[in-house]
Amino acid sequence: MERSIISNIQGYSIHDGPGIRTVVFLKGCPLRCKWCANPENLEVPVQIGFLSNLCTGCARCAKACPNGAILPGPDHRIDRSKCKRCGACVKACYYGALVSYGEEKTAEEVFDKVRRDKMFYDSSNGGVTVSGGEPLTYPEFVKELFTLCHGDGINTCVETCGCVPQSAMELVAPVTDTFYYDLKIMNPELHKKYTGVDNVQILSNARYLASVGANILFRQPVIPGINSSEENVRATAEFIRSLGRDEYAIELLAYHRMGTSKYAALDKPYELGDIQIMPASEIDAIEARYRELGVNCTVSR
Ligand code: SF4
Ligand code: SF4
Repeated sequence: MERSIISNIQGYSIHDGPGIRTVVFLKGCPLRCKWCANPENLEVPVQIGFLSNLCTGCARCAKACPNGAILPGPDHRIDRSKCKRCGACVKACYYGALVSYGEEKTAEEVFDKVRRDKMFYDSSNGGVTVSGGEPLTYPEFVKELFTLCHGDGINTCVETCGCVPQSAMELVAPVTDTFYYDLKIMNPELHKKYTGVDNVQILSNARYLASVGANILFRQPVIPGINSSEENVRATAEFIRSLGRDEYAIELLAYHRMGTSKYAALDKPYELGDIQIMPASEIDAIEARYRELGVNCTVSR
């Protein structure tokens, strides 16, 4: 029975695949994109977050901590060198100021939860999506979960950065109805600069999935000044066209800063603090440019 660390199971999503979906977020990612909106999903282990705006200073957490890892008072913080991630403080806090990101679950346990919304999937042509982090960090888990879903007639979708061994793609492709596949930056050096790794394996896996006829929607988070250039748009369009499948399209995701509070909760720096949100007219222009270059393009709104 396969297990993985799940940070969240979110129902009623309409942005993570066709129809109404339940999204299962798995922890762990090989990339470190500077704009990542889900920093709680980068590392595999369970993490404790502190939401200072909800804290009343009652100090119940400090009393509950068996390791003396909570420093209460006006500068309340977690001493992460002492924290053993036991979760006792999270249970002690009445105000939701402490959260535990991550819980180990089996594929069967996750399936038991997601199947409860089957009537919503059936009425909307929706289904179950795995996301992260990088869900294909756990290919056997995804295969088991999706096999259970297919056994119950539930549609399946993977949101992937593509940076996994090809063997992971081979394992899950037969039970995956749709891949939402990120193409972040086409220049390998720039890809490495902004995500920590180059894109060689990512492009290779996309070619493999195309060769086996996988249903793919490419996606591109548009980060002003990082990957919004004509050069990147042109190179991305050329790559998609090179796959030889006219139905392959790209969806643009406008940069946002909704994850910044989670960086603060985890005591991590957010490096893109000074990047401005892109005006809708500029993202519309990129959408139009993709179409001019022969790739069907939409913007996620
Ligand atoms: S998770 Fe456990 S060890 Fe860490 S601060 Fe909370 S109570 Fe202390
Ligand atoms: S228990 Fe919650 S509200 Fe009380 S001090 Fe700790 S974090 Fe703040």
